[in-house]
Amino acid sequence: MAANTISLSNVAASRNLNSFQSRAFIAPPTIFFPVASAKSKPGELSLSSTTLSRSRVRAAASQLMNEPLNDQRSISSPTVVEVDLGDRSYPIYIGAGLLDHSELLQRHVHGKRVLVVTNDRVAPLYLDKTIDALTRGNPNVTVESVILPDGEKYKNMDTLMKVFDKAIESRLDRRCTFVALGGGVIGDMCGYAAASYLRGVNFIQIPTTVMAQVDSSVGGKTGINHRLGKNLIGAFYQPQCVLVDTDTLNTLPDREMASGLAEVIKYGLIRDAEFFEWQEKNIEALLARDPAALAFAIKRSCENKADVVSQDEKESGLRATLNLGHTFGHAIETGFGYGEWLHGEAVAAGTVMAVDMSYRLGWIDESIVKRVNKILERAKLPTTPPESMTVSMFKSIMAVDKKVADGLLRLILLKGPLGNCVFTGDYDREALDATLRAFSKS
Ligand code: NAD
Repeated sequence: MAANTISLSNVAASRNLNSFQSRAFIAPPTIFFPVASAKSKPGELSLSSTTLSRSRVRAAASQLMNEPLNDQRSISSPTVVEVDLGDRSYPIYIGAGLLDHSELLQRHVHGKRVLVVTNDRVAPLYLDKTIDALTRGNPNVTVESVILPDGEKYKNMDTLMKVFDKAIESRLDRRCTFVALGGGVIGDMCGYAAASYLRGVNFIQIPTTVMAQVDSSVGGKTGINHRLGKNLIGAFYQPQCVLVDTDTLNTLPDREMASGLAEVIKYGLIRDAEFFEWQEKNIEALLARDPAALAFAIKRSCENKADVVSQDEKESGLRATLNLGHTFGHAIETGFGYGEWLHGEAVAAGTVMAVDMSYRLGWIDESIVKRVNKILERAKLPTTPPESMTVSMFKSIMAVDKKVADGLLRLILLKGPLGNCVFTGDYDREALDATLRAFSKS
């Protein structure tokens, strides 16, 4: 393997799933815990298995798997996944009805002033509930809110300014807390606003889409789009906590549900083969919003993300693997128009392209290609890009991808058995061209 290649593989560990198995779902007897390859070759950027320890992710006992999801015990005992980043560590609380549990949120509010950032679709559904959770029994706290227009096409500098306008007009000082209430667009924008307002204020994430609950709210990537490329402007900025109230998914449209599952499937493909196999058995339960299946998928996804972020917060290597399919996907989002395709839809088509390229390189066998196509189709996600995408559109947009280094486009590709991937710029350019030609007009 050549320089600038990071390889990752699955290694077994024993996180017991027995409580989950007692439910209607088919779960594996053990969960394989992924670690990076311990075998370095000369010139290879490889990660030692000793860099990962299971204690980095401290998932609390799986209360959600044992009890009915909407009962009192699950409200008072959320599942907790810890993101271990030294003095910037924080908990992810996962459970049904957590927004009714005001103490959880209030313990992470600093100061007496809070700004809730949300949008015009989520505000009518959850803003009052959130304000109530922040203020119940806590009369010293005052809450302002700013309601942004809804949609990826508003994830830009103009909309960001509305957050700063509100914060400055309200004379919020450095002791204030920003709260992101919404999907990934709101989380990314509110996080970036919190990172830069007065050079950084306290920040809490309340994600309300599957996409945000399994991925975007965790790990501290914040930012906005530029018309020439997605998420090109931003900062790494960690929240104080992430509060995942799975009840909020009850109002999510089916298309958004499916979009979020693209990121769940990603974790299985890049580092957690057992989770992928579980998804193959339970994808319809996830689409049908079965509470226990969703709770399990959210928790397992957060554990995977927390583990990666704990090892590589600023994306010097390992964290880039979370972007499987995203380089192709971001090109679709940028080229086709922000918001025309949902993020997860673009990632799904991009994943198929990355898998196709991996196969052309001879790095995976055909069965993986088929399984990826099948699970995405069952999840009602696209497996080809929009017809209007051309090879030259892909190439020009991918050229400004954040993973370009010294002019070299590095990609996340699958390599080896299911659950293994590499992040590399060392691949045959002809394979990339062949994939682009196979999936788009020249
Ligand atoms: P989104 O934020 O646009 O939300 C999708 C839609 O659902 C929106 O219309 C939203 O208003 C609505 N909505 C949200 N919660 C709802 C609820 N409970 N009920 C009804 N409607 C609800 O999109 P998304 O898929 O959540 O996130 C996509 C964004 O996340 C992209 O901008 C992507 O770049 C970003 N992202 C960031 C990271 C990261 O690490 N920071 C990771 C993955 C994705």
